[in-house]
Amino acid sequence: MAIRAVRLLGDPVLRTPARPVTEVTQAIRALIADMFETMYNAEGVGLAAPQVGVGERIIVVDAREEDIAPFALVNPVIVEIGGERDKGEEGCLSIPGLKEIVERALHVTVEGTDPDAGVRRIDADGLLARILQHELDHLDGVLFLDRVSPLKRRMLLRKWRKLRADTADA
Ligand code: ZN
Repeated sequence: MAIRAVRLLGDPVLRTPARPVTEVTQAIRALIADMFETMYNAEGVGLAAPQVGVGERIIVVDAREEDIAPFALVNPVIVEIGGERDKGEEGCLSIPGLKEIVERALHVTVEGTDPDAGVRRIDADGLLARILQHELDHLDGVLFLDRVSPLKRRMLLRKWRKLRADTADA
């Protein structure tokens, strides 16, 4: 296992829709192990393969307080989405330093392949539903910045540029 470099906002891989995985090979299993290690190293609750530069439809999630063990899903899709909405703060390992309130569906059902357990269906609400929607967005090249108002988005991008400039100066 190895920690992989997390790609940051501005890297085109984050804006490129990921390809479906055709087969869970040893390389895919190794990637998933690395994704868990990378997520834990960064103290994240979820990570999508494009965030480590791999354009394949894979996510890993550890919702911590939620009553579900950490899991990986290959080719996950939202099969049901509830009408009720929920607002909560989000950040992203690819955009460190930025946080914003994002509106999401309160309930989603996601189906995908768990490399250890086969086809899996997860009924999620609250924080877990939010994490799943955030990570699945990554597979389509969508970031949480795209889910806030144009005004908030401009503010966040301004803050990002300032943060990056400060980092470059350091
Ligand atoms: Zn993210």
